[in-house]
Amino acid sequence: MNNELILKAKKALKKAHPKLSGYKVGAAVEGLTGNIHIGYNVETDIHHAIHAEMMAICSLIENSNEKIKQIVVACVDRAWFPCGWCRQWIWEYSESPETQVIAYCVSTNEIEVATISELLPKAFKLEL
Ligand SMILES: [Zn+2]
Repeated sequence: MNNELILKAKKALKKAHPKLSGYKVGAAVEGLTGNIHIGYNVETDIHHAIHAEMMAICSLIENSNEKIKQIVVACVDRAWFPCGWCRQWIWEYSESPETQVIAYCVSTNEIEVATISELLPKAFKLEL
């Protein structure tokens, strides 16, 4: 478990812009070489949103161009694992099916851990 990653996800949550749902999410992703990138959810008036995990993964790609070692997702009310859409992102940009996904609750400090293959069994993978 990476406490720095949890603290960065918690800090990222404070930057969230959930203008429609009011539901803040923060994420911190660690790449294979130890680089950490954050993300938070941003919503628009036309009901589109960037999820925290997506922003963090895009930042990892843009700045480090490396695969995911582990990711923390921070929520306020409970330790929620990522939505199905974000699970696919994590799957595709992970080095291993054993990549750890850590769900963290800011208000209770509850932590749950699962691998991406547990969260997304029989994942879709485009074979070109
Ligand atoms: Zn999501």
